[in-house]
Amino acid sequence: MKKSSIKILFTASECAPFAKVGGLADVVSSLPKALKELGLEIKIVIPGYEIIDFKKYRFKLVSIFKFKNEKVKIYKGNLNKTNISVYLLENDKYLSKGEIYPGNGAHYNLFLIKRFLFFSQLILEFLSKIKFKPQIIHCHDWQTAILPVLTKLAAKDERKKIKTLLTIHNLPYQGEWSPGPIFKFLGLKGDELKTLKIRDESSDFNILEQGVLNADIVTTVSPTYTKEILTKIYGEELYKDLKKRKKDLYGILNGIDTELFNPETDQNLKANYLVNDFQKKVINKIDLQKTLKLPQDSKIPLFSFISRIVEQKGIDLITESIPDLVKLNCQIVILGQGEKKYENMLIRISKKFPKNISVNIRFDSVLARKIYAGADFILIPSRFEPCGLIQMIAQRYGTIPIARATGGIIDSVDNKVSGFLFQEFKKEVFLKKIKEALNFYFKKTRWGKMIKNAMEKDFSWQKSSREYLKLYQKLLNE
Ligand code: ADP
Repeated sequence: MKKSSIKILFTASECAPFAKVGGLADVVSSLPKALKELGLEIKIVIPGYEIIDFKKYRFKLVSIFKFKNEKVKIYKGNLNKTNISVYLLENDKYLSKGEIYPGNGAHYNLFLIKRFLFFSQLILEFLSKIKFKPQIIHCHDWQTAILPVLTKLAAKDERKKIKTLLTIHNLPYQGEWSPGPIFKFLGLKGDELKTLKIRDESSDFNILEQGVLNADIVTTVSPTYTKEILTKIYGEELYKDLKKRKKDLYGILNGIDTELFNPETDQNLKANYLVNDFQKKVINKIDLQKTLKLPQDSKIPLFSFISRIVEQKGIDLITESIPDLVKLNCQIVILGQGEKKYENMLIRISKKFPKNISVNIRFDSVLARKIYAGADFILIPSRFEPCGLIQMIAQRYGTIPIARATGGIIDSVDNKVSGFLFQEFKKEVFLKKIKEALNFYFKKTRWGKMIKNAMEKDFSWQKSSREYLKLYQKLLNE
């Protein structure tokens, strides 16, 4: 199949910059750009949440219709600086109200489940309204993982079925609920496909599991995570299903939008810089300290943490280690939001050490960039990390990761070359690594070399987008 005739629809719950909670949003907006460069036709569709600034991003109403007795509006816009169409599906009852994941995403509620079932069901109808016939629907995470089931059920002729590729960005989020309400909502009896009878350990219907079992191809976001999820520890109760699909399971490392995340051109920085004048990072460091009302000192090591504040990210290791970092005469800048108990813990600690810590509980893309540019280190003590983008963005900005060796971190940080990796999830081990990193920091030549190594790494989508292309071609040639 000629590349120019490959048509793909991306369906997801997030897409940057319109609606973003984490790395999923970055991938859903940056991978299509790279695929377009390869000659593919890509369209993206996400729910039209009320938190999206429709005006700012110039979304235009293109269609109004009824679906499941609900009024639905289709809005159309473009990805920044491209002609890649992005569609927002608006519906008052299910899609638009409140946050992207009402209830914080960590805990399911029936509303959240219905939101994404409704969205997924709507996709096929939406395609007929915009008259787009993709050969492949590329689904992302549990929110759109029911689509492989729906496309199977919709196809009267197997050969005409729209192929599906499911990418798992974060396995623990699976969308589980008791089967009754799910089948009722979907208008199914539950015996239409063999897999629909499968229940997880708590007798729930599991949306991600259905995606894993029914998608034509399943991918995860790094080669190492793909191996990890075939084990009981990382496989989150789905490892047996994933093993069944081993032949169709691939790990492709995420890239980042290197145009968007570029210290040379980033408008949010006090000083832009290239690998050859990375010393200008210090201007950004002082600016960051000033912005966050920390003592302005170019020599003091500045550690950062930018993340969703959830257990996965090892936030407990951070809170436990803060007093030691203060003793080492360091500054710590934290930006994130998530679980209240950790947020409150961080606020309490920051009050204890106001000269050393700045805690910022919010989502703030501008501050994030100032931190990537101004910090010396980024701490990433994740329990697991499917891919992780922050270590890539940080390295691009010459900020050195101190990270736990897991998942995509292993595939993107070179220990003692562009960052520091530790294994055991223990405060003593973490602190030992931090001290080792500080030894590098205080040796100017070695430190400069490390920053250069980090900045010179290629985190673009160039290689990985070709790997996706190969999978799409494989699907279409089957
Ligand atoms: P995950 O997808 O698990 O949240 P990633 O490392 O893959 O983690 O991606 C996180 C993305 O979200 C990065 O682009 C990071 O800069 C951004 N991010 C996370 N928290 C915040 C925040 N509070 N403010 C701004 N950007 C954030």
